[in-house]
Amino acid sequence: MIDVLVIGGGIAGISIGSRLSETSKVIILEAEKELAYHASSRSAATFIENYGNDVVRSLNTASKHYLENDNGGVLSPRGMMLVGKKGQENHFLRDSETFGLTEMSIHEAKKKFDILDPENVTKVSYRADVFDLDTDLFFQNFLKRFKKNGGHVYTNSKVLSISYGNNKWVVKTSKEEFEAKLLINASGAWVDEVAKMAGIEPLNFTPYRRSIARIKISDTDTVKGWPMVTGVNEEFYAKPDAGQIIVSPADETATNPHDAWPTEEDLATGIDFLSQIAEISVDRITSSWAGLRTFSPDKALVIGHDKINSEFFWFAGQGGYGFQTSAAASELASELILGISPCIGKDVSNSLSPSRFY
Ligand SMILES: Cc1cc2nc3c(=O)[nH]c(=O)nc-3n(C[C@H](O)[C@H](O)[C@H](O)COP(=O)(O)OP(=O)(O)OC[C@H]3O[C@@H](n4cnc5c(N)ncnc54)[C@H](O)[C@@H]3O)c2cc1C
Repeated sequence: MIDVLVIGGGIAGISIGSRLSETSKVIILEAEKELAYHASSRSAATFIENYGNDVVRSLNTASKHYLENDNGGVLSPRGMMLVGKKGQENHFLRDSETFGLTEMSIHEAKKKFDILDPENVTKVSYRADVFDLDTDLFFQNFLKRFKKNGGHVYTNSKVLSISYGNNKWVVKTSKEEFEAKLLINASGAWVDEVAKMAGIEPLNFTPYRRSIARIKISDTDTVKGWPMVTGVNEEFYAKPDAGQIIVSPADETATNPHDAWPTEEDLATGIDFLSQIAEISVDRITSSWAGLRTFSPDKALVIGHDKINSEFFWFAGQGGYGFQTSAAASELASELILGISPCIGKDVSNSLSPSRFY
């Protein structure tokens, strides 16, 4: 029997698996042929400290040092610019405050984002300390550490049945059977389905689809230095990506867990919003994708032992913050599992506990 079995090979599963592999025998099971196939390969790869509700922000802040320093760091400067159009002044002020942005003149803004359209944009605010997060490198760093510590990953291993008895879990895939003392549910959009399979009461998570188009515009050199640009009320965002731009309508369509794809309408909406605030001619969409951002009912992560069966551990509801929170979230999860007092503090830990829903 192994110590810990993790279901899910996205950033949640790999980060907690890696932490626990320091002290325990850990196996990670992933349904797909490859790791990070679902939400974890479809993000906008950004770190925004002021994103999410208060408890999510605590995780963002507590993750920052690790993201900046571990293995040489995975953050690089990007900056964030909020653009407001005529009639959006009130919401512009609210969003500027929420994200901690400072107002700047259109003239200054054009120096940072030269295609800004002064005809349509009336207000701009900005902060420099928003970062690109190298999600591939970050994921690989956790995976390397996991493997170095003797952890095993099984891909192509969809969990089909889970039972508990005699103080152990028995977990079956189509090919193999595993026995473990502790089961960690890090299955992203499928979190409630996996819980139900294990005989655990689901917590009513909802996956929301979000779409991204990567577009090519003619002048690839100037694109690199542009900040992340976002609309008031998060009506869209756009940022440079490998000499091109990614644009999202910041859609949030509630759905069932599945392999998500974007609709043409959503992609067009994002590009339309961008062209309202920028003088841009889109050559073509070079690629597009959608992923599921899975939220708990109060939009904060769920980290902790299940109240009824404490050998079932919830590590879920990473929403739109799974990468930027994962350093602190996985640290907290491993502390709770190892019975260590949480570095992040009891208040935050309690606000993330599944027991808040009972
Ligand atoms: C468009 C978009 C933009 C985003 N931008 C950002 C951003 O800028 N910054 C940020 O921090 N976050 C961002 N996110 C959020 C981030 O991507 C997610 O929070 C994170 O990837 C979730 O990781 P996860 O491991 O929980 O889920 P996933 O990556 O989905 O992993 C869960 C895994 O569990 C597996 N699984 C499910 N059921 C089973 C089973 N029965 N057996 C075995 N395996 C199973 C699935 O196959 C899946 O691979 C964004 C997300 C999207 C979609």
